[in-house]
Amino acid sequence: MRLSRYYAPTLKESPAEAEVISHKLLLRAGMIRKLTAGIYTYLPLGLRAVNNVARIVREEMDRAGALEILMPAVQPADLWKESGRWDFYGRELLRFVDRHDRESCLGPTHEEVVTDLVRHEIRSYRQLPVNLYQVQTKFRDEIRPRFGLMRGREFVMKDAYSFDKDDAGADASYKSMFDAYARIFTRLGLKFRAVSADSGAIGGSFSHEFMVLAETGEDTIVACPACDYGANLEKAETIAPAPGAAAPCPPAESVPTPGVHTVEEVAAYLGVAPARIVKTLLYMADGTPVAALVRGDRELNEIKLKNLLGATNLRLATPEEVVTLTGAPVGFAGPVGLSSAKIYADQELACGTDWIVGANAADAHLRQVDLARDARVVDFVDLRQVAPGDTCPKCGAALDFTKGIEVGHVFKLGLKYSKALSATFLDEAGKEQFMIMGCYGIGVSRIVAACIEQNNDASGIVFPPPIAPFEAALINLSPKDETASAKADEIYAALTKAGVETLLDDRDERPGVKFKDADLIGLPIQLTLGGKGLARGIVETKDRRTGEKGELPLEGFLEAFM
Ligand code: ATP
Ligand code: MG
Ligand code: MG
Ligand code: MG
Repeated sequence: MRLSRYYAPTLKESPAEAEVISHKLLLRAGMIRKLTAGIYTYLPLGLRAVNNVARIVREEMDRAGALEILMPAVQPADLWKESGRWDFYGRELLRFVDRHDRESCLGPTHEEVVTDLVRHEIRSYRQLPVNLYQVQTKFRDEIRPRFGLMRGREFVMKDAYSFDKDDAGADASYKSMFDAYARIFTRLGLKFRAVSADSGAIGGSFSHEFMVLAETGEDTIVACPACDYGANLEKAETIAPAPGAAAPCPPAESVPTPGVHTVEEVAAYLGVAPARIVKTLLYMADGTPVAALVRGDRELNEIKLKNLLGATNLRLATPEEVVTLTGAPVGFAGPVGLSSAKIYADQELACGTDWIVGANAADAHLRQVDLARDARVVDFVDLRQVAPGDTCPKCGAALDFTKGIEVGHVFKLGLKYSKALSATFLDEAGKEQFMIMGCYGIGVSRIVAACIEQNNDASGIVFPPPIAPFEAALINLSPKDETASAKADEIYAALTKAGVETLLDDRDERPGVKFKDADLIGLPIQLTLGGKGLARGIVETKDRRTGEKGELPLEGFLEAFM
């Protein structure tokens, strides 16, 4: 590709809107342009990077036996009503009506659509297992789209869905996806860590997030340096109960009366250690606390908070139920009703484990607060107060804290969607059974941003070769000089023929501009031709990552290069 004919509008300055380095560099290197909040156009270089990620993802999904399909972005509301998520999903789901007044939405995820697909075709255990995946554009109306490709409203995701006939099969599908994810992130050249949500009382581990380690990550990960223990501290995913083993609902008479209860009382009621009680605060935009969710064992994640903000049936606690949110006593407003199940976007609701508590609810006006409009989540407080250096719960070693970017998520769904949408099959005995599902997401476009967060220096991006839009930058210092240009063309043709994807800078620009742009775009290898080097019959080489320079002869260049 010739830069003179390309579309890579580089910028000298960082646009003011960009806060994190990947966002700045993606804009400066001419890889993306913003259309509107959280919605970007991928320019040629950016698209090549996204496609490189997608290619590796596809290769490993195919290798794991998953089959690629492509599902629609527009989804009918009816399916979401069937699964119960039309009401539960909240305002992240972009809804609209078509010309026939049919309610629809733009898919933020595809459990409903894929389950609908499969329930119409699969009749027998002989047709299972099956794992279907796609690389597709998702839409989520994020409350705070930011950081460029990191948290967009429209973004590219790979999502896979497995259907199994029994629990052992579902676990094998899960493991095969987990292993494929580990291969994908290794091949992409990223420093990552798989972290799990502790399944606590429910038992078993059903959800893992894959985190790219980076200071700018929105998640805090607690990780053990000695064993494989790792968890997402702030928003560990809720664990779905194992199929057939829903979390026990406490008998109604055992529910404590609303009022102030100690952490120990709440913990005893939930049957969990006091150290596991977690609370989450919601604040008004001006910083006034509005409400808190106090949960035993199952931590809230961001999805659920957002759904909470979109929920209409929230109840704030009465003044009597109000408690100090920072000290030992925590509020207890009684178990949430089904209306508050809205906070559970995509997990089964385990009854009796969640409460809504008001803070400052003595101020009557707060009870009229429109949470969806006025509140925002500004803080999470984890009463477990795990601190760096505490004991790893698994092996006792001192825990490390790091920041991470969630790039992938594997989840054992169990029967949630197959039950709601009646996706059944006949087992060996001819008995009708629900399929056991898993879902597996990868943030394809987010990975490009995450990769830049991990791989950059003062001059720009330092692409790992697997993601780099091209392998080599070939800089012709003297594009007006016919000899230099003929040589550059010759080398460019030879590299291209040898399969080395090369970006030839043949622009009529000063050398300084060319070097700066090459560093900014960050292709792994730089080859410079012209000036004194050309006279001496050499091409200068530079390794973008190490800065190491070298020379290769013009005569027999390709052999020397390879
Ligand atoms: P997050 O916690 O960052 O909001 P999520 O848990 O809501 O992500 P999942 O539903 O698990 O996301 O979706 C699968 C993957 O899609 C995520 O692991 C992430 O890499 C990617 N992803 C999710 N939301 C976005 C977004 N707004 N922009 C870009 N990628 C996203
Ligand atoms: Mg998440
Ligand atoms: Mg999210
Ligand atoms: Mg997730």
